[in-house]
Amino acid sequence: MLSVNRNIRPSGLQVARTQHVRFSSSKAKPRVVILGSGWGGYEVLKRIDKARYDVTIISPVTYFNFTPLLASCAVGSLEYRCALEPVRRYTPQARAYQAWCDGIDFEEKSLNCMPATPPLPSAPHLGTRTPFSVPYDKLVISVGAYSQTFGVPGVKEHAYFLKDVRDARAIRTRILECFEQANEPLMSEEERRRVLHFCIVGGGPTGVEFAAELHDLLNSDIKRHFPRLAPLARISLYDVAPKILSMFDEGLVKYAVRTFRREGVEILTSHHVERVEAGRMYVKEQGEVAFGMLVWSTGLAPNPLVEAMKGVERDARTGGVVTNGRCEVVMRGGGAGGDVWAIGDAAVMEGVVLPATAQVAKQKARYVAGRLNGMLEGRDVGRPFEWRNMGTLAYVGEEQALYDRSQAKGGPKTKWAGMVSWVLWRSAYASMALSVRNKILVPTLWLVNWIFGRDLSRF
Ligand SMILES: Cc1cc2nc3c(=O)[nH]c(=O)nc-3n(C[C@H](O)[C@H](O)[C@H](O)COP(=O)(O)OP(=O)(O)OC[C@H]3O[C@@H](n4cnc5c(N)ncnc54)[C@H](O)[C@@H]3O)c2cc1C
Repeated sequence: MLSVNRNIRPSGLQVARTQHVRFSSSKAKPRVVILGSGWGGYEVLKRIDKARYDVTIISPVTYFNFTPLLASCAVGSLEYRCALEPVRRYTPQARAYQAWCDGIDFEEKSLNCMPATPPLPSAPHLGTRTPFSVPYDKLVISVGAYSQTFGVPGVKEHAYFLKDVRDARAIRTRILECFEQANEPLMSEEERRRVLHFCIVGGGPTGVEFAAELHDLLNSDIKRHFPRLAPLARISLYDVAPKILSMFDEGLVKYAVRTFRREGVEILTSHHVERVEAGRMYVKEQGEVAFGMLVWSTGLAPNPLVEAMKGVERDARTGGVVTNGRCEVVMRGGGAGGDVWAIGDAAVMEGVVLPATAQVAKQKARYVAGRLNGMLEGRDVGRPFEWRNMGTLAYVGEEQALYDRSQAKGGPKTKWAGMVSWVLWRSAYASMALSVRNKILVPTLWLVNWIFGRDLSRF
């Protein structure tokens, strides 16, 4: 049972002072707290022995986000629900709070949290913004990272990001809004071209896959529903680096560039966006560029919780929390805090360079859950984490994809481009869906939308 000690004002409003959460019924069980419900946190939640640990998950959202499908959701090839898994699937065996963790006291072994469910403006007495603290015996930090903007002015205000299903929803709404605006009878041809210019900044896998999915949408359902406007639409992909998809094999990158060229996606590498304003950005090499929608995907910035952590080692380059080879957080002044683990995009492992991917986050989560379960049975030997590189996939449009395993240490160094990789891409993500429901829904919706077209209604 949970007991929360609250100060209630006579008016019924709670005093905004940190309140302490105590767990009384399961004292005998060690308390494990998981921060974040993404690739890392959700996998730990799934695998940890919930009968023998007292498990709490704290996340500002109540779901797991299947990020590789977000680009498909953003253009309506899939529905948002297919990219989500509810955290509450694992309650009441585990406790869940929809809250932000704002601070960690490693000495007291306690977390400061703030509810992420703001009260209704019309009924402020319902719900509370009272911060609360949660104790832990063992802590798994898997809070991921934020979108990097490199401090370019105006990006946060005027660009769209693609990190969460809510972003995918906002992007889909905006794409369709651009076409409805361009369809207004009093729009000039010039204004139509401007509002139908879709800019993507960031030539990594996320930017490339979104450009590819958007191209497919413009060349299928949009062409059918807006035949007069579709030829005016343009996609421009910007990157400051001299090439896109820098982590892929050179031959595969060339294939992607050729495919994009054929599809009419303009690739503008070595271009520097200096400032963004509403509906336009300023590019060093081009001057003013007007757009109807700008999607920004230029890598990762540290999570503010990680930035605010005291007493832990942080990586100088990425700002991530440093762990040893066993995913244990390295405390400042030496030594690992054996009861605190960090995984996923929030963590950097000493001595190895691992990509910030779902693959790594999930494998580390399995490793940590395995160790935690092993500790209960006295069979944890602290074997170091080993990453198995399963290869990297990227969709490049028109049923073409890339598959690259050329950098893997062992096994076949496969490099594929084309339709076979696309079949692999689709099969991999359909089979990786976490629930049976989504394993059925994802391929079914691909088929339904292929037969009947995407649903272009906006709400
Ligand atoms: C569009 C897109 C496509 C991608 N495609 C691929 C792909 O095809 N293959 C691949 O391997 N990787 C892919 N990635 C990368 C992959 O999604 C990340 O590497 C992965 O999500 C990292 O997992 P994580 O658990 O560290 O963080 P996340 O999955 O980002 O989860 C972080 C969690 O922490 C929560 N959180 C944040 N702050 C706090 C806080 N203060 N307190 C509590 N909780 C907090 C968040 O709400 C979230 O639930 C993609 C990423 C994106 C954005």
